[in-house]
Amino acid sequence: MASATYDDDNIFAKIIRGEIPCNKVFENEHVLAFHDISPQTPTHVLVIPKGRYVSSDDFAAQASDTEIAAFVRAVGAIARDLGLVDPGYRILANHGRDAHQEVPHFHVHIFGGGDLGRMIKPPQH
Ligand code: 5GP
Repeated sequence: MASATYDDDNIFAKIIRGEIPCNKVFENEHVLAFHDISPQTPTHVLVIPKGRYVSSDDFAAQASDTEIAAFVRAVGAIARDLGLVDPGYRILANHGRDAHQEVPHFHVHIFGGGDLGRMIKPPQH
């Protein structure tokens, strides 16, 4: 299977390389997390792998077991460290056109800090 083409000039690649600043909340060998520049909830953190993965599909298909385990562990640890386990939080990854993925580097959003409502807005037909 051909892997997706990764754009090394995307904004998160620049953040990983330190060319653009971020408000960092977590970093290890495989993962970086930082506050979203345009938060949609009181707490809105983005978790990204340091590897060159375009999307959730690319990450699921191409990342190593070590990278995947590190990523899932990091998401849990970050939410825990942010104090979100007891009140609750939502994790979300947009993939592709229908989900309006804006940045072509795989990322998971962590939303929290208040009542998030139920699920998502359904499509309008
Ligand atoms: P997507 O729609 O791709 O799932 O979400 C991309 C997210 O990245 C958006 O919530 C947007 O606010 C955030 N974002 C875009 N550019 C930057 C940036 O330069 N810094 C940070 N911290 N977040 C960004």
